[in-house]
Amino acid sequence: MSIRRRKDARRHWRLSAKLLIASSIATVIGFSAICVSVMLDMRRGEEELARQMLENVASGIDADISRNIELYDLSLRAVVSNLVMPEIHSVSKEIRHLILFDHASTAKHFGAIQVFDAEGNLTIDAASLDPRPENRADEEYFTIHRDHPDAGLFISRPMLHRSAYVIVLSRRITGEDGRFLGVVVGSIRFSYFHDLFGRLNLAPGDTITVLRRDRTIIMRTPFDLDVIGRNLSEQPDWNAENLKEKEGASFAGRGPIDATPRLYVRSMGTSPLFVVVGKPLESVFSLWRTEAMRIGAVMAALVVFVLGTASLLAREISRRADAEDRLEEMATTDALTGLKNRRKFDAEIDVEWRRAARLGMPVALLMIDADHFKVFNDTYGHQAGDQVLVGIAICISDSVRRAGDCAARFGGEEFAVLLPGTSAIDALGVAEAIRFKVEQWCEGETITTVSIGVASVKPAVGQQWSDLVEAADKALYAAKANGRNQSVVASLSPISLVA
Ligand code: GH3
Ligand code: MG
Ligand code: MG
Repeated sequence: MSIRRRKDARRHWRLSAKLLIASSIATVIGFSAICVSVMLDMRRGEEELARQMLENVASGIDADISRNIELYDLSLRAVVSNLVMPEIHSVSKEIRHLILFDHASTAKHFGAIQVFDAEGNLTIDAASLDPRPENRADEEYFTIHRDHPDAGLFISRPMLHRSAYVIVLSRRITGEDGRFLGVVVGSIRFSYFHDLFGRLNLAPGDTITVLRRDRTIIMRTPFDLDVIGRNLSEQPDWNAENLKEKEGASFAGRGPIDATPRLYVRSMGTSPLFVVVGKPLESVFSLWRTEAMRIGAVMAALVVFVLGTASLLAREISRRADAEDRLEEMATTDALTGLKNRRKFDAEIDVEWRRAARLGMPVALLMIDADHFKVFNDTYGHQAGDQVLVGIAICISDSVRRAGDCAARFGGEEFAVLLPGTSAIDALGVAEAIRFKVEQWCEGETITTVSIGVASVKPAVGQQWSDLVEAADKALYAAKANGRNQSVVASLSPISLVA
């Protein structure tokens, strides 16, 4: 495989490692995004399911309350319409009771209906033929009806009545001339709500709140006396805005009573009361949370696995590319001197020769040979000779610094320096610099010198780089023949530049 192809392969590997990491990260991000989106969808589904369930509970409770209020209101209306008949006052108390009060008003949780006159005095009581004197002129239900003829059915705030908490339902008695003749009053005991809520299977933390349309709390479970009668119209989060009268109105957040965040859903009805059912978000999302944690854990493990595997593979690929680099370095370097070896030199001169031919530029070559090296070896030993070769290589490296220049050990005690784009004169300058450096470096009695053949050629059609090598070689022989320790430029008459 050529050096260039191997380089390409290594570059390809490094790119593959980066691509592997990038694609793994993209895959992880993509899967995580899908996972998060699915989990959010599941959460929305869970919330919608809970909302529907709460809506059903709320409208069920609302229907029961509405039916009972309507039933009781019918009894009140009957009393109001019968009371204005003039004949009613001429019959006995027993007959009047039978005419005014039906059996609906005696149901389990309903209080006895009472009639108060225009001054607030109790005149008729369904529970007694001879009621004890009582005046309710100060009560809100009395003043409302007295001052507002069109108040209709009025439902009071919760109040203590005959030692039981009740809500009072009242209607105005209006004479034929429109005069205020008093009020008819009935009551629904809290036991009704306790009974109603008791039949439901509520989870811990669930709340049911029954409110009047002005947002006064009529009843709430879990039951707390301090909360009953509180008006919520001023509550910033839990007011008309969030639970306004529209289909399926709901609100997720903190309620007015405690700090537990809940999903609140209100009932839709036309009765004077409405119901808000709340479920803690904790329990709304408990199943989802377990599922999300399970999927999240699996996803995290997958992410760790994919990224871990990808980084391991990428590291392995990089390590292999590095090993290739080192192998390449070793395969192209001369072990003794650290310069490029002959193989690398052949590849380089081939490339530079083609480039010079393409660009019409010269390529210069220096052939450097140590003088009388055999004698040196014979005198000081092969190892000392090796040290000198290393020294000459350092001198060459120090003088050849341009990118693209290639200094190589050509073989034995011969070196070659390739100088692309360099004229013969400039190449001679480099050659002389090397020669002086070698001379200077050798101190004491063992002076080593080199002879250098210089050639610079602009590649012409039909010429090979071996022609350049041959020309430099000839110049080197000329330098040797001329007395050594000198540089000679090829194709010119040998120039003696003996120092
Ligand atoms: P000149 O070039 O000046 O004509 O004389 P020379 O003695 O250098 O000539 P020749 O090229 O015949 O000898 C080359 C000698 O270089 C032979 C060998 O002992 C020595 N030589 C070649 N390669 C190495 C090497 O790797 N290490 C050492 N120490 N010596 C080497
Ligand atoms: Mg030689
Ligand atoms: Mg020699």
